[in-house]
Amino acid sequence: MNSISAFQNALIRWYERNKRDLPWRRTVDPYAIWLSEIMLQQTRVAAVIPYYERFLRRFPTPAGLAKAAEAEVLSMWAGLGYYSRARNLQKAAREIQAQGSFPKSYDAIRALPGVGDYTAAAVASIAFGLPHAVLDGNAARVLARLDDDGSDIKASPVRRRLQARAQELLDRKRPSLFNQALMELGATVCLPRQPLCAACPVAKMCLALEAGTHNELPVKGGQTAVHYVERIVVIVRKRESILMWRRGQDEPRLKGFWELPEPHMLPGVRLAEPLGEFRHSITNHRWFRWVSLKENARIPLSTTTRKALAVLRRTEEKNPPGKGPPQRRRVVVD
Ligand code: SF4
Repeated sequence: MNSISAFQNALIRWYERNKRDLPWRRTVDPYAIWLSEIMLQQTRVAAVIPYYERFLRRFPTPAGLAKAAEAEVLSMWAGLGYYSRARNLQKAAREIQAQGSFPKSYDAIRALPGVGDYTAAAVASIAFGLPHAVLDGNAARVLARLDDDGSDIKASPVRRRLQARAQELLDRKRPSLFNQALMELGATVCLPRQPLCAACPVAKMCLALEAGTHNELPVKGGQTAVHYVERIVVIVRKRESILMWRRGQDEPRLKGFWELPEPHMLPGVRLAEPLGEFRHSITNHRWFRWVSLKENARIPLSTTTRKALAVLRRTEEKNPPGKGPPQRRRVVVD
């Protein structure tokens, strides 16, 4: 690459003209920026926006989040997945509350529960203007291509090298703009497949484009295998309530969430015709209770349960209950 300052200027100029208008880009409140960064981990921007706006309306400050019931925080998060993020967010809000204000240094932000190197650098640079480079998946892809680097970007030593490279390229006077620009370039132009090099502000400095390797990079080893699982969930209904069970605190995932039962939990129950099907992607001490159909909007429900209840609602809109003989209903989930 040619001069670092030419790179910084071209990148930031492009960003200022082309950046997407996202709600967390309209604030410098560290709490709101931190919330957006936690929500954006493993989750697409379009999916995060309504959650972010709803969450901030309900919990506009760390103080409100710190004193909320965990069940309410989880229900505000329901559907975003990776629920440990919500639990850590609340733990961190309580620590912030105890400290009296949001931490202002990289190390103090990094020490909050659920905050790793990337999030600490993002919040430190965007909210406080501190010179810490970020390295998310988008930034790593851009850097690997700029340097025509064919190493496995998932390998820890390569990750460390890319982090050091990002730090070397960082515009220390404008770290917030630089970091956001590098990630935005990866998200909108330097795409994983078929990068839009003709629209790239730093194409002249890109060694992969020069070498013709830009479509083969970056190299990523150890891709996670996908497993397909078929599940059946059962809707047992008593007037305006349905039977649900709650995951215990010792469960490996979705602790404290309410779910529809599966047939093996209800020995002796005969299943009726399937109500419907849906697909859901996801990366035991149980107790049951009747949950009113109105109440289930206020308790944390897993995504599969919400989808199954949506199938029930659609079916009942077409065929209201109470007309004709009682029916057993079930929903097939995969
Ligand atoms: S020229 Fe193409 S491959 Fe290189 S950084 Fe720009 S978009 Fe990515």
